Amino acid sequence: MYFENSNFSFGRFGTLAFTPMMEQYLKIKNKYKDAILFFRLGDFYEMFFDDAIIAAKELEIALTGKDCGQSERAPMAGIPYHTADNYIDKLIKKGYKVAICEQLEDPSMSKGLVERDVVRIYTPGTIINLNSIEEKSNNYLVSVYKYKLNYGISIVDVTTGDLFVTEIINCNNINKIYDEIIRYEPSEIIANSDFFSNNKLIKAIKSKHCYLNKFTSENTYEEMVELIENQFNNSIDELNLGNKKYAIISLSLLLEYLNNLHKVPLKQINKINYYKDDSFMVLDSNTIKNLEIIESSKTNSKKGSLLGVLDKTVTPMGGRLLKKWLEEPLIKTDKIQVRLDAVEELLNDYKGRLELNEALNGIYDLERLSSKIVYQNINPKDFISIKISLEKLPQVKENLKKYNTLLLKELYLKLDTLEDIYKLIEESIKEDPSTSLKEGNIIKDGYDENIDKLRKASIEGKDWIANLEASERDKTGIKTLKVGYNKVFGYYIEITKSNLSMVPDTYIRKQTLSNAERFITPELKEIEETILTAEEKLINMEYEVFNNIRRKLEIQINRIQNAAKIIAFLDVLLSLAVVAETNYYVKPLVNNNNKIFIKDGRHPVIETILEENFVSNDIELSSQDPIMIITGPNMAGKSTYMRQIALIILMAQIGSFVPASYAEIGIVDRIFTRVGASDDLFSGQSTFMVEMSEVSNILKSATDKSLIILDEVGRGTSTYDGMSIAWSVLEYIHETIKAKTLFATHYHELTNLEKQLNGIKNYNISVVEKNDDIIFLRKIIPGAADKSYGIQVSKLAGLPDCIIEKAKEILNNLENNKKEIITETAATTQIDIFGIEKDNFIKEISECDIDNMTPLNALNYLNVLKKKASVLRCDNHE
Ligand code: ADP
Ligand code: MG
Repeated sequence: MYFENSNFSFGRFGTLAFTPMMEQYLKIKNKYKDAILFFRLGDFYEMFFDDAIIAAKELEIALTGKDCGQSERAPMAGIPYHTADNYIDKLIKKGYKVAICEQLEDPSMSKGLVERDVVRIYTPGTIINLNSIEEKSNNYLVSVYKYKLNYGISIVDVTTGDLFVTEIINCNNINKIYDEIIRYEPSEIIANSDFFSNNKLIKAIKSKHCYLNKFTSENTYEEMVELIENQFNNSIDELNLGNKKYAIISLSLLLEYLNNLHKVPLKQINKINYYKDDSFMVLDSNTIKNLEIIESSKTNSKKGSLLGVLDKTVTPMGGRLLKKWLEEPLIKTDKIQVRLDAVEELLNDYKGRLELNEALNGIYDLERLSSKIVYQNINPKDFISIKISLEKLPQVKENLKKYNTLLLKELYLKLDTLEDIYKLIEESIKEDPSTSLKEGNIIKDGYDENIDKLRKASIEGKDWIANLEASERDKTGIKTLKVGYNKVFGYYIEITKSNLSMVPDTYIRKQTLSNAERFITPELKEIEETILTAEEKLINMEYEVFNNIRRKLEIQINRIQNAAKIIAFLDVLLSLAVVAETNYYVKPLVNNNNKIFIKDGRHPVIETILEENFVSNDIELSSQDPIMIITGPNMAGKSTYMRQIALIILMAQIGSFVPASYAEIGIVDRIFTRVGASDDLFSGQSTFMVEMSEVSNILKSATDKSLIILDEVGRGTSTYDGMSIAWSVLEYIHETIKAKTLFATHYHELTNLEKQLNGIKNYNISVVEKNDDIIFLRKIIPGAADKSYGIQVSKLAGLPDCIIEKAKEILNNLENNKKEIITETAATTQIDIFGIEKDNFIKEISECDIDNMTPLNALNYLNVLKKKASVLRCDNHE
């Protein structure tokens, strides 16, 4: 509740009546309690009471007061209306909602209080001010409807009109729901109350700095269906949503929410992209981060990420689409194949590629310009941007004609060149129009008869005045007669004092200066009036005609959007072709053989930033040999190698060529990565608990078609603990999941698994030792690494010699000791290697004091026991 908790409860203001304006304010504010209300007063937006105090602080503007009829003044803060966009953005970035209340009638026409109401509300997911949104990213609003274990999810970008809808039925894996929502990086989520019942999920979402909103509807189900049918102008069955109840509800909630906020018909949202949750490879947010697909973890920017390497798109919509492709790799070979074939055809046509690129280069953001048409915040200059863009379409189509691959043919056939829309703008809008709608100078001559007439009247009037000086000099014989203009008196005729005797009777004196007098004539005033009214009328008329043209475009908006989509698609394919050429990629073979075979693979990002040559490496993973244990010293290149495999697979599955000399990619359904706590560059605060819960999530979700990358997992705890966990995880993957797995580890003991389990193979990244030094060869070779070379690496890193020498001595001692321990324990029982004895284990359980445990403690303890038990079990297998 807004006012109740505030310092400015009504009570404090006593029983005096508020001023009428303040009454009006409070009435409106009462309807928008959760938003900061921008209340239009003339040329300002004013905020009052708590809103004013918040705004003054957050926007660093002055806090003043306004008489409101009470004994105390109301706190007030204000901003000039034309600067509002920036202030709105600022508040929204800080997590506020902003409601814009406008004057609904012209104050000069109204006798009493001007009518006012809220015309638009802004939230993070619904901003339409394009200055604040990244050009090559989408700004998504997600609507989730949860009922029992069923979810309807709808995702929209109101600035482009993109809408995606899906449904997940009977799902008790909350991670899956989280991944599905978060992979869009929404800036705002709305959901029904039921969704908020899972605290863990809500907390996780909030940590993504996402604005979370409860939203419920009074609509019946029938009304929801109707809302959708009206929006998309089609029956629910034709829209293929007939039996998708949860999707329908989430979509209808979304539309209702947007209608409440924007209060204009959402014409830009006119197509539903329904997808099944198995249409794409789902990438969880950890994997997107770990593999640095969209953002480099060092710089938090595109530079240094896979997207950074692949993005040579030249249009904003192409940039957004490529990002989307990377976030949604395909899993159907035929779909991948058509993309690959198209990239290949473009790659092989150097000249055609250049021509297409040149045509695309001049195309503006047609998607967002379309939304501006709908939101009526489009200006005449934007129309010229649209025109310049459309002008390129025939050339693009012409250039596409010659291609034979399926996808390019389809793009060619589907591309509507929109000549009619081009013609409409070309005929109506001036080449260099004003950006403002209230200054005229928008409409071309010859487009509208009335505008032409008014312009003519104004020009003729001005001509008449321009000629007046000469003709009056003639008539009166006064050689120094001058015609001038000032704001107060308008046009006048100026006569110096010495010539006053020659002034005709028809002149009317208006103003006396020190050595001259100014006159007007009835005729001059008449012409002046004609000019001024003509200009005023002209401005209004141009505005009206502009709006008519805008409405004409609005009707055609889905044609513009469709063309924009085709341009985006082509832009992405071209970008992939360009990158394939410059970086010497090859076309991968994609199939369903469940095998990964890569020759001379390279890391697509690191190879572009290294100064020395990148050393390529092979890999072969199949259902017979799905698991690789990779050892080797720090800095050898283990992490790089594993990531490069994941990235090559991912690239292949978006339809990109890959950095290798040959690649055969059996489709992978998911890629999972977990980077061990000690190697976790990203979160820093990552604890062992987080690491383990992520691993458990992977084990729950992975299948025999998945790729799992475990980089130094188990290092967040003591060596034996960690090692035992790593061991049992690997065994579990091997026995139960059968996923392809790359496991980099420091625990050399784990390389013993190779002997025990078929399908696990040891590899290491080779180094050579030269005296005391170590040289990295970066080549992956079969077999386990013989030692860790930690001391040599430290030496490379510049640790002082005395420390290095001492460390060597200690290591020698330790290694001799360890040999003793291992030989000893091997003679007794293997369990000792893990520091856990069965007897101890049983004793521990029987002695545990349950009565004095909190439920949470008990759960944690159970967790510990379970881990210990699994280690014991792992040993019993042997
Ligand atoms: P590890 O995980 O084994 O500690 P990294 O994979 O982090 O090692 O690699 C360390 C550095 O070695 C990388 O940042 C990169 O500069 C270099 N490097 C790794 N692999 C290669 C390679 N194949 N060719 C050239 N340099 C490489
Ligand atoms: Mg590493």
